[in-house]
Amino acid sequence: MTESADRTLNLRDPASCDPEVSGERGARLARMAQLGVPVPRGVVLPFDLVADMGRHGANTVLEPHLSRALDSLGADTLLAVRSSPLQRDWGGPQAILNIGITDANLPALAARVGQRQALDLYRRLIQSWGAGVAGIDAEDLENILYDRLKLAGVESEEALSVGDLKVLLDDYRAFYLEEVGQPFPQDPATQLKAALEAAAKGWNRPSAKLLRQAKGAPADAGLALIAQRMALGLCSGNSGAGIAHFIEEKTGRPGLNGRYLAQAQGLDAMMGLRTPVLLCRAEREALGISGQSLEESCPLATEALQMAGRLVAHGLGDVFDVQFTIESGVLHVLDAVPARRSARAAVRVVVDLVEQGAITREQALLRIDPRSLNEHLHPQIDPSHRRDPIGRGLAASPGAASGRIVFSPEAAMSLAAQEVETILVRVETSPEDIRGMHAASGLLTVRGGMTSHAAVIARGLGLPCVVGVTDIRLDMKAGTLRCADGRMFHEGDIITVDGSRGEALAGAAEMIQPEISGAFGTLMGWADATRRMRVRANADTPQDARTARAFEVDGIGLCRTEQMFFDEARINVMREMILAETVEERRGALDRLLPMQRGDFVELFEIMAGLQVTIRLLDPPLHEFLPHSRDEMRELAEQMDLPVSHIIHRAEQLQEFNPMLGMRGVRLAVTMPEIYEMQARAIFEAVLEVNSRAEAPVIPEIMIPLVSAAREVELVKARIEAVARDVERETGARLEYRLGVMVETPRAALRAGDLARTASFMSFGTNDLTQMTYGLSRDDAGRFMRDYVNQGVYPEDPFHALDLEGVGELLLIASRRGRKANPDVVLGICGEHAGDPASVRFCELLGFDYVSCSPYRTPIARLAAAQAAL
Ligand code: PEP
Ligand code: MG
Repeated sequence: MTESADRTLNLRDPASCDPEVSGERGARLARMAQLGVPVPRGVVLPFDLVADMGRHGANTVLEPHLSRALDSLGADTLLAVRSSPLQRDWGGPQAILNIGITDANLPALAARVGQRQALDLYRRLIQSWGAGVAGIDAEDLENILYDRLKLAGVESEEALSVGDLKVLLDDYRAFYLEEVGQPFPQDPATQLKAALEAAAKGWNRPSAKLLRQAKGAPADAGLALIAQRMALGLCSGNSGAGIAHFIEEKTGRPGLNGRYLAQAQGLDAMMGLRTPVLLCRAEREALGISGQSLEESCPLATEALQMAGRLVAHGLGDVFDVQFTIESGVLHVLDAVPARRSARAAVRVVVDLVEQGAITREQALLRIDPRSLNEHLHPQIDPSHRRDPIGRGLAASPGAASGRIVFSPEAAMSLAAQEVETILVRVETSPEDIRGMHAASGLLTVRGGMTSHAAVIARGLGLPCVVGVTDIRLDMKAGTLRCADGRMFHEGDIITVDGSRGEALAGAAEMIQPEISGAFGTLMGWADATRRMRVRANADTPQDARTARAFEVDGIGLCRTEQMFFDEARINVMREMILAETVEERRGALDRLLPMQRGDFVELFEIMAGLQVTIRLLDPPLHEFLPHSRDEMRELAEQMDLPVSHIIHRAEQLQEFNPMLGMRGVRLAVTMPEIYEMQARAIFEAVLEVNSRAEAPVIPEIMIPLVSAAREVELVKARIEAVARDVERETGARLEYRLGVMVETPRAALRAGDLARTASFMSFGTNDLTQMTYGLSRDDAGRFMRDYVNQGVYPEDPFHALDLEGVGELLLIASRRGRKANPDVVLGICGEHAGDPASVRFCELLGFDYVSCSPYRTPIARLAAAQAAL
C-alpha cells in the first residue's frame, strides 16, 4: 500500500507552487493563495499520487489520510474536484462541483444558503457527478431539466418554483437509480473518493491520451487534482459567478471589464443562459446599458476583485483573466489564465508590468515574439472580418491592403494619380515594375519565392505582398484572373492581399490600422540598450534611407545600387551603356550616369549622417536592364539613333542560359571595369562633397558582390584604389574608405580566409548563398516550396529562415576562417534572413557585428538581437 499522509499538499504550502508537482492550474492557485488572493482553501493531489490512484484505486491509495487532509478544509463544506495537468490545454476530466451534498445534510445546507439554492446545488451535483463518475449521459439529465421547464411553462431554472425544483431533484435521483442500479451515494467521503478516482482513471483512457498527445503532451504526461472548498455563487444574498479581464484585449489599456451573473456557478456567465451584467459602471454607461453593473450592486466585492487583479499581476508577473465567485457579497477567486491580448496589446502589457515593478526589462523583452511586431507596423485584416480566399501563396511581405486589380505597373501608376488604391497582379515582377510597385497598395505574383524580386522589393517598400500564388491563372490579354474555384476577376475588381498570412481575398476587408505606440518605442529602447549586434537596413534609394532613419537603424548594410538605374530618366542611359560596342561608347554613357549616381550618394550620405553606409557595386546580370517589349526597343533605337534590329541583335548577344550564374556581380567588373570605376568615382566625389559641409566625415564602405576567388577582389581593389588616388589628385583631398566583399557563393564561404586578407568587412548574402548551396532558384522555388514544407522535406522555407545545418555551417566556417586570417574583419549578414529572429540568434552565436534587413523588418531584428544577447 502506498503511504499518502504526506503526499497531499495544502494550497497554502509553498511546495504546491511547483507546476511539476501540482500542474499549471494547481500551481497558479497555490501561488495566488500565497499572495493573499482570496482563493478557497484546497488540497492538491500531486502527479505521482494521482498516477498511483489511477493504478490502484482511491481506497487503497488515499485511505486513511485524505480525510485528515480534508478536515483542514472545514467540516460540512462542499468540495469541487478540478484537474490540473502540466499544461492547461492538455485537457483533463471535467470539474465536479458541489461534492458533499446528501439527502441528510440537504436541510442544513438549505438553512445556510437558501432552499432554492440548496435544491439547485444538489441537482447540479447529481448532474456533474453522474456524468463524470457514474457514466450517465449528461444530455439525458439536461433533457429531464428541459422537460421540467416545459411542464412548468418557464424559460429557465430561476423561474422554477421551490416545488418544481424538488420534483426536478426527485426526477434526477430516480433517473440515477434507474441508470446506475443504485441510489445516488449518500456519503460525502464516498462521493469525493469516487470523483478523484474517476478523474485519475479518465486521464489514462486511450482516447484522452491521444487527444493530449495531439496537443504536444508527452506519452507519460501526469495529472494533478485539486480538491477545493466550494465558493457558492448559488447562495443567499449577493452571490454569483463571473469572469474579469483587467485589460482591453485590443489595446492592452488597463481597465476592469468582464461579465457577472447573479445566482450562478462556474462559467454560467459565459453560457448565454441568462444575460450577465457588466463589471464596471463606466463600461455599462458607455454602452448605454440600463440596470446595475457589479460595481454598483456589489462595490466591496468589485474593489476586492480589482485588488486581486493587481496582486496577481504583480505576484505572477503577467495580466490574467480571473474566474471568480461571489458568495454572499464576498469574493473568491477560482482560477486565472493569462489574459487574451492582441500582439499590440502584448507590448503595452509588458511595458506596463515593468513600470509597475512586476517584471524586469529582460523578461519583458523575452515575452514578445519579434515577428508579432509586424502588427504594429502594417495594417492588418480585422480578425472579425469574414474572409473569402481566392488564392494562397507565400506570405512574402507583411500587412494587408485592398484595392482594384491592375495587371500592369502603368495602370497602377495612372490610378495612383487619381488616388485609387490598386493591387498589382503579375506573373512575376522585374525591375521595370518598380514604379508600379511604388504606386500600388499591394502586390500579388503567381510565381516567386521569399527572395524573388517581388518579395525583396515589397519588403523594402513595406508593401503587403503574396508571391507564389500558383492556384490562380492570369490572362493578361483578356485582363482576367481566374481562381481555383472557377471564379473570375477582372481588371478593376476589388481584392485584398494579406501578406501576413499569404492569402488573396475577394473584396475589400476591414482593416486595423498600424499604430506605433509609446509602449512600442519604450520596448525598442530597451532592446537597443540590451543588444550587442548592430542592426542596419537594406536601403537602395534616398527614400528608403529616410524610412530606415525613421526606424532608428544603425546604418545601411546594403545599398543595391542597381535600383538607382531603374528610374525613368536613367534607364535608357543605362541601356546605352549596356548596348555599347566599344569601351569609348560605354564610357560616354557612364559619364552621363556619373552625376546621377553621385547625386544619389550625396543624398544618401546626408540622410544617414553619422551612420555607416555600405554601397554594393552593380550586381545583376545586365540583360535585366534591357527593354523587353517591341515598343520599348523602338523607343530606345530612336533615342540612340540606331535601327531596331541592332538593339534586338545586341540584346540577343547578351542573353544567357543561366543569368543568375552568369555575367553578374564582380564578373562584370573583371570584364568591364569601367562600370565599377564610375561607381567608385561617384561614391568618392559624393563623400568629398558631403564632407565639405558635414561635421562627421563619411567613411564609405564599398562592397563587391558575388565574389568566389581572392583574385577577383585584388583586381577590383586595385582599380578602386586607382580611382581614389585619381580623385585625391584632382581635388587635393584625402579619401578614407573601406572595401569589403559579399560572401554569397559557397566557394567564397570556404575561401573566406583568402578574402578576409584583402577585405575589411564580409557581408553574408544569404539569399544567393542559400540559392547556390541548395541549387535552388530563388525565383522559382515558390512553385514547389509549399509542397516541400508540407511534406517535411524542409522544416521551413530556407529563403525565409536560415538553414542552420547547411547554409549555417558555411557561415560558421567562413566566419572562423575569415576572423583567423584577419581578426579585425567586420562580419555582417544582409540577406533576407537578417529579419528572421532564429537566424538573428544564429548570427549572435557566431559573433557577427551586424545584421541588415529591409527597414520595416529592423524592429524585429532589433528585438531578436536583444533576445539573442540575453
Ligand atoms: C543576397 O544574395 O543575400 C543579397 C543580399 O543580395 P541580393 O538579394 O541582391 O542578391
Ligand atoms: Mg546576392
